[in-house]
Amino acid sequence: MRRVRTWIGHWPAYRQLKGDDPLGRGAAAKSGRSGRLGPRVASAERVVKSICPYCAVGCGQNVYVEDDRVTQIEGDPDSPVSRGRLCPKGSASLQLTTGSAREHEVLYRRPYGTQWERLDLDTAMDMITDRVIASRRAGWQWEADGARTRRTLGIASLGGATLDNEENYLIKKLFTALGAIQIENQARI
Ligand code: SF4
Repeated sequence: MRRVRTWIGHWPAYRQLKGDDPLGRGAAAKSGRSGRLGPRVASAERVVKSICPYCAVGCGQNVYVEDDRVTQIEGDPDSPVSRGRLCPKGSASLQLTTGSAREHEVLYRRPYGTQWERLDLDTAMDMITDRVIASRRAGWQWEADGARTRRTLGIASLGGATLDNEENYLIKKLFTALGAIQIENQARI
């Protein structure tokens, strides 16, 4: 009999009729399992404010950290841009941080190569520097159509949508100083 009473006591319709939730929108409709659930970020030790890196909307993110590891990324309700929302890409950005496909070293594939080689960052930066200098020199133009130009057509820059104002300012300044005139940014979605 006691077991029957206990079973009936767990029945939502009974709780709805006997408890203080007559419309069955709260406690009466909640199962024991639901009652034991907690937020998945409850064990986080700290929350770091960040911006979604995927597109120019720049939605705010809360990055949850535990044992110095990112454990979850969610929308930041304090962001005036997104007010706590993230699209499916932004919602999946935890994988960008912790996924096994993330590369932590520079990969280089030589012309006609079929394999990726790992390079240290200093070597890669030196290679890029050499190529920039050579391309600038090869594409240099003192004059065009009788007018003084002093520019290079050997280098162009196309920025990504996630670059911020300060980064774009520095990129424009660098490439203009190098004499490049083809400087653009994909600041759209
Ligand atoms: S719209 Fe999506 S991809 Fe773009 S910043 Fe917001 S969450 Fe990221």
